Amino acid sequence: MRSHLLNDLTAEHYRRRVTEGVERVAAKLAATDRPFTGVAVDALAPRVDGIDLDRPLHDTSAVLDELEDVYLRDAVYFHHPRYLAHLNCPVVIPAVLGEAVLSAVNSSLDTWDQSAGGTLIERKLIDWTTARIGLGEAADGVFTSGGTQSNLQALLLAREEAKPGPGGREGSAGLADLRVFASEVGHFSVQKAAKLLGLGPDAVVSVPVGQDKRMQTVALARELERCKRDGLVPMAVVATAGTTDFGSIDPLPEIAELCEQYGVWMHVDAAYGCGLLASLKHRDRIAGIERADSVTVDYHKSFFQPVSSSAVLVRDAATLRHATYHAEYLNPRRMVQERIPNQVDKSLQTTRRFDALKLWMTLRTMGADGIGELFDEVCDLAAEGWRLLAADPRYDVVVEPSLSTLVFRYIPSAVTDPAEIDRANLYARKALFASGDAVVAGTKVGGRHYLKFTLLNPETTTADITAVLDLIAGHAEQYLGESLDRAS
Ligand SMILES: *Cc1c(COP(=O)(O)O)cnc(C)c1O
Repeated sequence: MRSHLLNDLTAEHYRRRVTEGVERVAAKLAATDRPFTGVAVDALAPRVDGIDLDRPLHDTSAVLDELEDVYLRDAVYFHHPRYLAHLNCPVVIPAVLGEAVLSAVNSSLDTWDQSAGGTLIERKLIDWTTARIGLGEAADGVFTSGGTQSNLQALLLAREEAKPGPGGREGSAGLADLRVFASEVGHFSVQKAAKLLGLGPDAVVSVPVGQDKRMQTVALARELERCKRDGLVPMAVVATAGTTDFGSIDPLPEIAELCEQYGVWMHVDAAYGCGLLASLKHRDRIAGIERADSVTVDYHKSFFQPVSSSAVLVRDAATLRHATYHAEYLNPRRMVQERIPNQVDKSLQTTRRFDALKLWMTLRTMGADGIGELFDEVCDLAAEGWRLLAADPRYDVVVEPSLSTLVFRYIPSAVTDPAEIDRANLYARKALFASGDAVVAGTKVGGRHYLKFTLLNPETTTADITAVLDLIAGHAEQYLGESLDRAS
């Protein structure tokens, strides 16, 4: 069994086995003609269930053959130009190489004595990101597992920094007084964070958005005023720079003004919109982000990085102390005086992957402009897709994109019942998924079912968009035809 341990004696074994795996995946990527096979849960589950984990195969080729059957054949492939569903990007090769290196070396980024250079690389990438944002000299941050954790940590810092209101915030009564303001189309991780942070059930105030799906600052001002009047404590405003559904970017400069006026922590959730930090053409769309107290970025969404790669950045490094605990077995306090950099002092995690290496390899190979160019391409594709949809009488399209999503709905001219239109759109999405020809997402707008393209693949063309719109219309028409038959 020792031959399976990665070490000096097995270096050659490692090279061969991993190469074998890489070759399988490469062949798979080359041969993928659809984003999905359309396999049903009921067809796949017995194949996984049928495997006896207590009877290993011992042989790498046999294990890979089996993997083909239970996973690779029917995986959902984000690199395919007709995968248009969620915020999953095709990944860049330098980052995948970084992934292979980081898991083999297996550094853990919690302490200097488990990572050495890894710690310095991560810190340099944090500084690079805060400089791109414009957070100033005192800024800092740390890599996290994703936007959900970044938002949680940012809100933890905001909670600890929140000024006590009338009545103070001692005990649980204090926590119940804290309010977080986010737009009605903000990410649900804000609610989860509020719950984990012990805030009350009404802690997250939902601020309405306009037609453009951006937070209405007049409404935010009204809510902040109401909060003050009610003797409650405004803890944070979460501005979303790139909403998950619409890619809409809240008006950051106006929100920054209000946060300053009311003395509230400004968090910018740029999990999606962070790609603009590298953009050559559209950087101005997130102007105002530099005024944030904290920022969430997901490199695994718009920097073409493999999952996971995310960070939380803060204007004032000192605020990260709210996540600091010292343990004799890991990061004793004296190490701070000895100026030994232990990243665990800033993180919610302890053992932590060296995800930063992927971004490092990417920047050293392609440069930030290379990433920005790819992201600009998908933003431009979305603008083109919007024009196509707006001109297409079969479709209603919701909002002109600020990033790379399109939300739309098939609207047959002969059908007026909105519930029937809902069912036709739901059916079309399901049927498309089952066909494997393309994968699209869905959401609700104004209580009605809509479909969504999240365009993150520069290889997707307007011809792909046109073709998928035709497929959707075909499925929806088939549903409506059958529905007529059922009625008659
Ligand atoms: C995706 C997303 C998140 C959550 O990020 P994960 O990396 O999936 O945890 C948070 N906010 C927004 C706006 C997002 O789009």
